[in-house]
Amino acid sequence: MYKEVILKKNRDRPVVKKHHWIYSQAIERWPEFEDGEILRVISSDARVLGFGYFNKRNTIAGRMLSFGDNDPIEAIRRNIKQAFDLRESVFEKEKTNAYRLINAEGDGIPGLTVDRYNDTLVVQISTLGIDLLKDVVVETLVDVVKPKNIYEKSSMPSRRLEGLESFKGFLFGEENNVVNILENGFKFEINLEKSHKTGFYLDQREMRTLIGSLSKDKKILNCFSYTGGFSIYSASNGAKHVTSIDISEEVIEQSKKNFELNKLDQKNHKFEAIDTFEFLAKDKLDYDIVILDPPAFAKKKNDFNNAFKAYRKLNSMTFKKVPKNTLVLTCSCSYHVSEGDFKRAIFEAGLEAKREIRVLQSHRHAFDHVLNLYHPELNYLKSFLLYVN
Ligand code: SAH
Repeated sequence: MYKEVILKKNRDRPVVKKHHWIYSQAIERWPEFEDGEILRVISSDARVLGFGYFNKRNTIAGRMLSFGDNDPIEAIRRNIKQAFDLRESVFEKEKTNAYRLINAEGDGIPGLTVDRYNDTLVVQISTLGIDLLKDVVVETLVDVVKPKNIYEKSSMPSRRLEGLESFKGFLFGEENNVVNILENGFKFEINLEKSHKTGFYLDQREMRTLIGSLSKDKKILNCFSYTGGFSIYSASNGAKHVTSIDISEEVIEQSKKNFELNKLDQKNHKFEAIDTFEFLAKDKLDYDIVILDPPAFAKKKNDFNNAFKAYRKLNSMTFKKVPKNTLVLTCSCSYHVSEGDFKRAIFEAGLEAKREIRVLQSHRHAFDHVLNLYHPELNYLKSFLLYVN
């Protein structure tokens, strides 16, 4: 019942190797179809490679939902169930009830990201194909996860390439904007509508644990603190002092609230709504640990040069001032700045600051941000824990 799309000779190879994307130049013959429709994908030598949804507007014209003869709708259901079972088997619910449940191609469902925040699911849809399958997705999530409610927060600019407007709203259950979560036993309040991304930077969970474990009796500076993730881990683990800075007054207020939720006395700690570069220029930087977790400086490919310079500047400003024996956790979430390029920016910053620098740890995303071996494009975050002497 699905119409057939035929791929060009040799251009069908990525799909044979289970990559999810099909570029428009790889297509030999289209059927007549509506954008977003699921088509049967046929190789140049007439084999069925699987099923994907297609959109002629986008240069990535097709995204595979299943390979071989597997039914695409069944594959969505099975992948959601499998993703949930995996997370349930690796997280202790009493300690951590917030995690990435579906990581798009990483969990076999291109165009769909779902984060779990306690009993609430937050769905992000980036393609028309998945938008048209929203009912199947919601029905399966309700059936498998049994959440109280499901909120959709689809506002990424890439939706425009698919002909979609941005959309925010509840898809299921009671409308409740404020959710409380637990991460490794720490409490955070999340405002679904106002928050960044789907609510919380779940991808940095493991780095927060690492910094927490190093914080006892230490003085910490958390730059780009957002709602206080790293700060709460440090303060709860006995840090002598934590300074949290972020350019947004609103997230600083939320950080203070999160300190209260965790019954942490705020009088040993400092919060400031300020631009990090300005703060690094004025402060003495007398800390034992400095965290630099900025927003993506390169949002698109063309931003690369400016982003590279910004990473170099951020790191060199820090390296120049910190005392000997300081630990610096430095991160980049720019997809368009590779791990190698980010390392080079740090290397150049170290030379510029004339400091001796060792790498203690390198890290990518927390492990619920599952990667697909056959589809590596989801890799964006990289963190290095440095020892500055
Ligand atoms: N480390 C955080 C996530 C950081 S997200 C966590 O673990 O939760 C990046 C943050 O940087 C956002 O909160 C944003 O408001 C802030 N930000 C963006 N530009 C900034 C700047 N120039 N100076 C300070 N903060 C900035």
